[in-house]
Amino acid sequence: MTAHEIHGPVVPTEQARSVFRPLPASAVRLAPDGLLGRWQARNADATLPHCVEQLGTYGNLANLRRVTGDAEGEFAGMWFADTDVHKTLEAAFWELGRSGTASPFVTDTAGLLEKAQDPDGYLDSYFQAGHRDKQWTELHTSHEMYTAGHLIQAAVAAARSAPQHPAAQQVLAVARRFADLLVQRYGRSAEVDGHPEIETALAELYRVTGHRPYLDLAARFVDNRGHGVLGEGRFGPRYLQDHEPVRQATEVTGHVVRQLYLLAGAVDVAVETGDTELLAAAERLWDSALDSRTYLTGGQGSRHRDEAFGDPYELPPDRSYAETCAAIGNFQLAWRLLLATGKVKYADEMERVLYNGIAGSTALDGTAFFYSNPLHLRTGHDGSHEDAPSQRLAWYSCACCPPNLARLMASLHTYAVTGDADGLQLHLYGSATVTAGGRTVQVATAYPWDGRITVSISDSGTEPWTLALRVPGWCTGSGLTVNGEAVPAEAPDGYLRVTRAWHGGDRVELDLPMPARLVTAHPHVDAVRGAAALVRGPLVYCVEQADLPTAGPLAGAVLEDLELDPAAPPAVAPSDGGLTPVALRVPVRVRADTSPAPLYRDVTGPPPRPAATATVTAVPYFLWANREPGAMRVWIPLAAPEA
Ligand SMILES: [Zn+2]
Repeated sequence: MTAHEIHGPVVPTEQARSVFRPLPASAVRLAPDGLLGRWQARNADATLPHCVEQLGTYGNLANLRRVTGDAEGEFAGMWFADTDVHKTLEAAFWELGRSGTASPFVTDTAGLLEKAQDPDGYLDSYFQAGHRDKQWTELHTSHEMYTAGHLIQAAVAAARSAPQHPAAQQVLAVARRFADLLVQRYGRSAEVDGHPEIETALAELYRVTGHRPYLDLAARFVDNRGHGVLGEGRFGPRYLQDHEPVRQATEVTGHVVRQLYLLAGAVDVAVETGDTELLAAAERLWDSALDSRTYLTGGQGSRHRDEAFGDPYELPPDRSYAETCAAIGNFQLAWRLLLATGKVKYADEMERVLYNGIAGSTALDGTAFFYSNPLHLRTGHDGSHEDAPSQRLAWYSCACCPPNLARLMASLHTYAVTGDADGLQLHLYGSATVTAGGRTVQVATAYPWDGRITVSISDSGTEPWTLALRVPGWCTGSGLTVNGEAVPAEAPDGYLRVTRAWHGGDRVELDLPMPARLVTAHPHVDAVRGAAALVRGPLVYCVEQADLPTAGPLAGAVLEDLELDPAAPPAVAPSDGGLTPVALRVPVRVRADTSPAPLYRDVTGPPPRPAATATVTAVPYFLWANREPGAMRVWIPLAAPEA
């Protein structure tokens, strides 16, 4: 890491255990006409300014100004409302590093945080202006270190994106004062915050500063948890992952975002300290989530009441909570595990959750968001509460998700490619230019709409190096050519590797066939037993009420009347210039006119009305709820063979 280089989230030190190494943030530029590049541009143009505006509207900035004596009135929002400021600031710094554009928000907020900070380093507007007596007294619920963690992550983004910028130096100094206070106060303590986040933040601050006490405190917090130090709380120790040390735990539990942030911190500590036991625990827990507690979209959490993982295979599509922050946490954890282990399954999961669970949370215009992300919105759904709205909302009373999206999207380019002396490894496919280590390659693709990826070498040293291309787990029959000649395409570990002395003008083409497919769930997922979902490539598809014809055999039908014909496969439909570049045309049977049917009937009674056949359109799940409000479903029952 040289002084002029800028970097993204998660940069293990040279000594860290890390199979893959992130490239400098400046090494990858997403093309503005690719889907990933468009998401990133939309974030800069719409989502990030929207978040800044909402921080003003909802009083988050005024909360801090109350501390400095520059505003009056009551504290507004959740007691951890400062974190929305910190996460938006983090996003703004990643954006500054990417585009060179610093908004006034960056400078203004840096000054505000510095002014609001106590002389000893403490900074939390809820406790500073009105609840001084409670400071540090209710760690199980106060979120004080969670808030400090997000401040530190903003500072890490500042230091990596714009090390010379005065506002960046200001925020880093503020964060270090708070971190130093934590080291002084909790460096020998058995206590821990109720909401993890400080662990990964401190480990990252160590990476930025080289100051070992930050890493030691992160490690202490990881190990303090799991000994019942937080008490029963409202939902019990399992909700807080305080029932069992993370090293010994065998399955994920409790509040999903807490669990995922804790594991992110555990991986950061493990790779920096060479703690193979801790890394193995994180991998084991990740497996337990993926084996039985993850939706097809990569979303996690089926309990609304406590925002928690459910029991194994408890994955109801209509009651999926699948918080947007959990999807982001899943992505961030998978990235850390990918770097640490080099296992392709983590990159596969990053792709799945990015294109489905994460992308689906944001409206086309980038200024409205889902907090919970269902896989089935019922006909007649009551969307009047923000817990399960029918459409995306501009903001939430707990607004954790929108700024979380902003910080992820502003740094999205840093997750696509890794590189080292051996070569480049492509993990997420999108049109981009990659320049690193004297090598420049252009990636051109219409992914995820098309599975052809062209990598053109425009600059290369004289030494041979290896181009590694991920073959997604969903793909069979991939093909690879170099300068038009087929090369053996075997990827035993999930990466196709071609090693040679590359020359400018060399051209590699990877072909990932993407037929439309029907997938079904493990039979223990009772809620979707007998149903199938439509997928193509990395995209999950859904059917929306807006696509049901109002005439013909489907007149009057609702989504719950549809059944998939297992013998009639879905077909890929060319673009009609509407919502999606690629739709699916899906043969279905329709049992409409079921309204007179009783709620329950004897199985020996007269059979339901025979089905009519029709064809419906399915659209990518991530694009749902961008037209008139209406029902949506991912899982559709498979029709029984007609007698
Ligand atoms: Zn959230």
